[in-house]
Parts: sequence; C-alpha cells; structure tokens
Amino acid sequence: MPNQNHDVIRNVDEIVIVGGGLAGLFCALKLAPRPVTMISAAPLGQGASTAWAQGGIAAAIAEGDSAEAHAADTIAAGAGLVDETIALGLAREAGARIHDLLRYGVPFDRDLEGRLAVSQEAAHSARRIVHVRGDMAGGAIIAALIEAVRATPSIHVIEGYVAEALFTEGDMVTGLQLRPTADIAAKPLTIAAPAIVLATGGIGHLYAVTTNPAEARGLGLAIAARAGAVIADPEFVQFHPTAIMVGRDPAPLATEALRGEGATLINRRGERFMLARHPLGELAPRDIVARGVFAEIAAGRGAFLDATAALGQHFAENFPTVHASCISGGIDPATQPIPIAPAAHYHMGGIAVDARGRTSLKRLWAGGEVSSTGTHGANRLASNSLLEAVVYAARIAEDISGRSFAGPARPSIAVTVPRNYAMPPLAEANLRTMMTSHVGVIRDRDRLTKAIRSFAAIERDTGNIALRNMATAALLVAASAWARHESRGAHHRTDYPSENPDLARRTMTTLAAAREIAASLSERALPQPMIA
Ligand SMILES: Cc1cc2nc3c(=O)[nH]c(=O)nc-3n(C[C@H](O)[C@H](O)[C@H](O)COP(=O)(O)OP(=O)(O)OC[C@H]3O[C@@H](n4cnc5c(N)ncnc54)[C@H](O)[C@@H]3O)c2cc1C
Repeated sequence: MPNQNHDVIRNVDEIVIVGGGLAGLFCALKLAPRPVTMISAAPLGQGASTAWAQGGIAAAIAEGDSAEAHAADTIAAGAGLVDETIALGLAREAGARIHDLLRYGVPFDRDLEGRLAVSQEAAHSARRIVHVRGDMAGGAIIAALIEAVRATPSIHVIEGYVAEALFTEGDMVTGLQLRPTADIAAKPLTIAAPAIVLATGGIGHLYAVTTNPAEARGLGLAIAARAGAVIADPEFVQFHPTAIMVGRDPAPLATEALRGEGATLINRRGERFMLARHPLGELAPRDIVARGVFAEIAAGRGAFLDATAALGQHFAENFPTVHASCISGGIDPATQPIPIAPAAHYHMGGIAVDARGRTSLKRLWAGGEVSSTGTHGANRLASNSLLEAVVYAARIAEDISGRSFAGPARPSIAVTVPRNYAMPPLAEANLRTMMTSHVGVIRDRDRLTKAIRSFAAIERDTGNIALRNMATAALLVAASAWARHESRGAHHRTDYPSENPDLARRTMTTLAAAREIAASLSERALPQPMIA
C-alpha cells in the first residue's frame, strides 16, 4: 500500500550531494552549472571536520619535491595496505586542486617571493603542507567554499536535514529519505535523484573520546551499507594520541607540533613512558604513541603532555589555540602538564569506491572521509585526507558531468517508512563508551565479541533510526576488527600482536557479512540490547 506519511520531492534533474564539508562543497562547485541539491545535517560551516583541520593539505609543489616522493611516504605510512596506483594518482593531482582552491578564494599562506608556503609534518620526507595563517587551514577553506557555493545559483542548499536511508531498486540507488535534524518525530522527506553523492564525513563520534564533531557518527556509512554497498577497511580507525581531557566533547587537540617543539609525555609519576617504547620516544609514529598513552591510562598511571620546560611562558604566543583550550578547562599549560588521552580522529575505512568515486551501487558515489579509496591503507599520512577529499570530489563531478541518466529516477514510494521512536536515554552514550573501551586503541577477541553482540542487538531492536544507523556503522567496524587476526597500522590486537604478511590485503565487506559474524558469535543466546 502506498505510504502516505512522507512528502516526496522529485528532483529528476538534480544531483543530490549529502554533506557540506570539503568533499561536498567542492563537488557541488565542480558540478556547476549543473543543478545540485546539497543536504547538510548542520548549517554550512558547522558539524564538519573540515572546519577544524589545523595542519593543512599535502601537495608536492615545492622545488625538489615530487609526486613520487609523496606517494612513497603515503605507502610507507599505510602499513602494507595502500593501493600504490591510487596514492600516486592522488599525489599527482594535488597541485591542480590547490590551484582550484585558490580560485575559489582560499587564502593559502605565501612566502616572501609570493610562492605558496609549505611546512613540514611528521612522516613526510619533504616540506609539502600548504596552510592558512599557521593552523587555520580548515576554517579558511570552508569559509571560502561556502561563500563560493552561496554565490552559485545552480546549487540549492538544504540545511538542518539528516539523510537517514537510501532507496534502491535492485542495485541502483534511486533516492533518499531525510528528516529534520532537530525533530525526529517530523514527517520524513523523500527525494528522488538521478545521482547521489555521499560526502558525510567520518565516524569519530561513535567513540566516547573523539576530536570529531557530533555529526561524524557514521550515518552516511550506515545508510550505504544498509542499501547493500561494499564497505572497505572499516576496522582501521586512527586515534590521535594527544586529545586534551578537560571535560569537553569533542575533545580539543594538542597538535603534534608541541612534541616537535620538545614537549614530553609523562605519567603521574613524572616518568617519560615513550622512551621505553620506541627509539624516537615522543616522536614515534602516531599509532605507537597512541598505544603508549592508552597503556599508561589503562595502568592507572595517567598520561600528560608536559610543555612546561620546552615552552613555558611562550606557550600562549606559539600555540594560541591549544592554550585557549587548556585555559578553558582550568589548566595553565605554561606551568602544568596537560591531561591527555587518545581520541578517535580519522576513519581510513569507508564506502568502497573506485578511482572515479563510484561505489558498488549504481548511481551512488562517495567522496571524502566517508569513502575508502585505498589511499590510506592501515594508517593515514597526516594532511592526506583534505587532499583526498578535493581530488575525489573533482573526479566524481567529472564522472557525473559526463553522463546522462536515462529516464527520471523514481524512489519506490510504496516503502513503509517506519515510525521513528525517541532515542532511549543513555543509549548513544553507552554505544560510544563501548566503542572506546571494546573497539578502541587496543582490541581483543573477547571485548570485540561483546561489542558485536551488543551492536547487532541494537541494530535489530531499536526503533530510533539514528541509533540504528550508529549501531550499523559500529557493527561494521567491530566485526571487521574481530575478523582481522593480526595487528597492523592503527588496528592492534593483544591476542594477535604481530603483523601477518599473509593478511596484507584490504578488507572488502558488507553489512550482511558483518551480521553473519554477529550471528555466529551469538549462537547460544543474544544478550538484551544495552539500551533496553
Ligand atoms: C580536529 C581535526 C583536525 C584535522 N586536521 C587535518 C589536517 O590538518 N589535514 C588533513 O588533511 N585532515 C585533517 N583532519 C581530517 C579532515 O579534516 C577530514 O578528514 C575532512 O575534513 C573530511 O571532509 P569531509 O567533507 O569528508 O567531511 P566533513 O568535513 O566532516 O563534512 C561532513 C558533512 O556531512 C554532514 N553530514 C554528516 N552526516 C550527515 C547525514 N546523515 N545527512 C546529512 N548531512 C550529514 C555534516 O554535517 C557535514 O556537513 C582533521 C580532522 C579533525 C577532526
């Protein structure tokens, strides 16, 4: 029976882009003058990781640097899982995309001769990070692109709506269901579209400790998976080792540059615990430092970033953003060690896409952090994510521009839109806590099994659509982490502590496969969902 409880908007010509971060904005601009509807859960400029990026964009544009050297660094960071052709292609397109951003008005810093200024970042073999006013890259990029989007008449922006489901006919995506972010009881809207681009960002907010905004809770990943899309490498989540623990959610970042300036990592006894763990001490790779910090906290010794000797009274002048975050939490970093913890920061996994950003479903593309291109492998190289977002957004726009879509797309409006029930109290907080404690920096079979059972039960039983989608995304991460019997890059298992060369391949999975794992683990009795 046709469903009457939702409105249908038919945009037969318009490409729909979900997400208003770098990937979504850039793709919409590149598609102009082709009509585009852009949907964003939060007002543009808010709720996007892009706005918070501090470092900048990696691009081998300086004299003496090369795309080959950039690709080699990317491959080395990715712990054996980077697709080398993809990494080289990305590095080669960086210069062209930086020039696009300049044309859209991004004020990248320049040197005295007027050339783009490039800075150095850990694990890059050359100075190649283009930036804006020191650590303000993300804010400046998003501000310039929003201005350009608002000035482009072919782009129609719908703010304050969450995409909560995709409609399919066979393996073709035909439309999507939206609901006002602030009113879960409101009637959903259904949009029919000839092509949909998901650019919904990452999953960090599925974790209790994260640097990501609340909108980064895996909803885009979940709706694609629920529609049957192939998902790649979901187990690989990068944790930033030094999130500042001053009671804020999301947690502010203490940039790695502080350790570059000589700040040390100490426990409550004042011991520099990284010295025993790696020859580079505090400057060891990000995943190793994250595990060191995690281990100190787990052992009850606490973890702190101590810049009192290295920076002291120069802290505020040299690191104003971090200084302000500390002061707002009652810590004076000039005289006191900063309490820290590892925080979910970046998702290497996502919706599997090919070199044009096409997913495994017809008429569905994905770009930016929600996608998995093969660039990052098991560990992202710093500042490659903004680059990947612009390169793939441009490729998606080009791929869509060159196509005509036969006949109007029609979502099946005979679908029954289920009632959306209220989020049970503490359900989201419990899920996030379980992600941090059971699917976090250090994993093992028993905790992953408990997490999988719990997420599968929520996914099956909850009547709240957002919670269900969060549980779907969480289940994908946990099930693939359970299935990878080794430690590699950001994925660390205490029961399989070494890298296994036989497992040096990317994960390609589906929600059906994750549910099968859950079913195999709950043959005896499924627990009640933790939200009951
Ligand atoms: C603190 C911080 C610092 C970082 N620093 C750097 C850096 O220096 N260099 C670098 O390369 N990378 C950095 N990163 C990573 C980088 O910022 C992100 O990977 C990148 O910005 C992702 O862009 P995106 O467009 O894919 O997603 P986002 O910018 O997160 O945008 C996602 C958009 O989708 C919307 N959305 C989400 N779900 C839905 C839904 N269901 N329906 C509708 N809309 C939805 C959101 O509201 C938002 O508009 C940093 C990340 C963080 C958190």
